[in-house]
Amino acid sequence: MIKNICSRCIYDDTVPNINFDDRGVCNYCMQNDSLEAEYPTGAEGAARLQKMVDEMKAAGRAKKYDAVIGVSGGCDSSYLVHQMKEVYGLRLLAAHFDNTWNSTIATENIHNVLDKLGVDLFTIVVDNREYDDLYRSFFKAGVKDLETPTDIGLATTLYRAAEKFGIKYMIEGHSFRTEGVAPLGWIYMDGKYIQSVHRQFGKLPMKTFPNLWFKDQLRWMLFGGIKKVRPLYYMDYDKESAKKLLAERYGWQWYGGHHLENRFTAFYHSHYLPTRWNIDFRIAGYAAYCRNGWMTREEGLRLMDEPPHIEVGLVDFVKKRLGFSEEEFERLMTIPQKTYKDYVTYKKLFERMRPFFWLMYKMDLIPKSFYMKYTVKS
Ligand SMILES: [Zn+2]
Repeated sequence: MIKNICSRCIYDDTVPNINFDDRGVCNYCMQNDSLEAEYPTGAEGAARLQKMVDEMKAAGRAKKYDAVIGVSGGCDSSYLVHQMKEVYGLRLLAAHFDNTWNSTIATENIHNVLDKLGVDLFTIVVDNREYDDLYRSFFKAGVKDLETPTDIGLATTLYRAAEKFGIKYMIEGHSFRTEGVAPLGWIYMDGKYIQSVHRQFGKLPMKTFPNLWFKDQLRWMLFGGIKKVRPLYYMDYDKESAKKLLAERYGWQWYGGHHLENRFTAFYHSHYLPTRWNIDFRIAGYAAYCRNGWMTREEGLRLMDEPPHIEVGLVDFVKKRLGFSEEEFERLMTIPQKTYKDYVTYKKLFERMRPFFWLMYKMDLIPKSFYMKYTVKS
């Protein structure tokens, strides 16, 4: 079968929910353009970012911190800590969810950057046996969303840090210009989903994992009034120069690819998704680079033909740490594919509350992407 490929980026018809206009341009390129219009860079972007910074400083006046920011040791979050502290003078609290699978480089990066900048760190560390049990549960559930607990754990960590110190702003390191817009239907996450998968397949009680319950999320959004902001949306963010700056100033190290700073995440992106699900997330980043003219489509397609970068021995490491025999691992990589729809989730509730979430998005209490992805009828 000949694949239909977008005439502007490199998304093709294997990408979920894709459609093309009469020029052969895909809907994700359109989405990119509406984000471009909504979040300008250059002089206007700089002015808007400054206004945002002023608001954060005003909200933090009588408090110890102006904003909380999630850190992973990766490029985006490290660069953002540098910018927000050094350039804009914000008093930051960094927050990290330690799922006990960090690479050594990631841990060193976090400490090198934060120590030199004098930024405090709030961490939630989960019990490693409990976390491995969660990972095993998601494997056994047959779904693709193995990293859901990590994303949810980070969200809760950020909210808890904000609540503890009365912080009103949460800085997120996402950039649609470098990461792209993830296709709807690639991944799904919510706290109820984790509970449902864990109830069915888990062996150990969930004691230290900071799950995100809807009632808490509502409390933090409505009564905490904690706003989420994405400064990279307004910045001329050049990732290559950012890496260089971080290396020179902080001894920060590159670990070979987006999302690869955590060993399980690296396994997930470089092995699990491509092998079992035929999904290669690198396409989102390369497509974004094509849309912005930083890469040609030919270059993007050529890079997609190269196998994902994977550390030697990583698959064996994951197998061993999770206690899977060769046979068990092989079985789990081939059991029938399930989706979040086979488990109990908050999705129906989110759909019913669509108008409410629209309001939350308009008030900057949730990102637009959440509204777009989670409240649309599946
Ligand atoms: Zn496209």
